[in-house]
Amino acid sequence: MTATIPHAAPLAATSERPMVEAVEVHKRFGNLEVLKGITMSVDRGQVVCLLGPSGSGKSTFLRCINHLEQIDAGMIRVDGETVGYRERNGKLYELREREVATQRRKVGMVFQRFNLFPHMTALENVIEAPVQVARRSKADAREQAQRLLAQVGLAEKADTYPAQLSGGQQQRVAIARALAMEPEVMLFDEPTSALDPELVGDVLDVMRGLAESGMTMIVVTHEIGFAREVGDVAVFMDGGVVVEAGDPAQVLGDPTEERTRSFLSKVL
Ligand code: ADP
Ligand code: MG
Repeated sequence: MTATIPHAAPLAATSERPMVEAVEVHKRFGNLEVLKGITMSVDRGQVVCLLGPSGSGKSTFLRCINHLEQIDAGMIRVDGETVGYRERNGKLYELREREVATQRRKVGMVFQRFNLFPHMTALENVIEAPVQVARRSKADAREQAQRLLAQVGLAEKADTYPAQLSGGQQQRVAIARALAMEPEVMLFDEPTSALDPELVGDVLDVMRGLAESGMTMIVVTHEIGFAREVGDVAVFMDGGVVVEAGDPAQVLGDPTEERTRSFLSKVL
């Protein structure tokens, strides 16, 4: 399949090129148009917090970035590469599944539910993809996993099974597991929504550390405090469109749009 490239502009120099670039992204499920032209640009090292009511298309948008969903129109680039396609002579050619998998390695994803493999220890969960998918040596992968588990505050839990870990600890293992593939950008989909309130802080602290280390992050969250402190940009989505985006202090503290105000009054 080929398609023309919308808004085809010459790529900027590597240092200026956005890490994630979405242009007029449309996505429908049957008759339901879930994304109605999402345009967004995330620079290397930036943290973008995505907020909006349930059903506004936040998860779908993240899944499109990772090519877990195919978009109907528009385009998404990650680190300059068009997601799901290769560009040649101004035309787009659909990638094969194996090429999609390679592309996907640039993007780490953490979900609301941690989805750890229950029959594997924390360390085994972290080394699984590096060994099986990236074909790293077990020794290398173990060394890296120990380092990542230490980074998320779980050095002592390497040999523990998920069932023996709290939800917050499991989520931190899930973050370490995503980092093990050395992604260029991390997507978080309501990573603390399923956690007991007393466990939320530790997970947010890990994410804050990751942001400080320079990781590019798109975070769907209702944690307004986190968005204001850690976010470089806040984006408010509703009904499949970006309603308002900008400095978190402004968007979350003094929004321009009535829809943003109304949403914030409900979550605060
Ligand atoms: P949010 O994450 O903002 O709550 P979602 O992206 O999960 O929103 O969902 C947006 C809309 O798309 C919802 O109406 C949801 O029911 C619908 N939707 C999501 N995934 C699918 C799917 N695979 N098939 C059909 N409808 C879907
Ligand atoms: Mg969602």
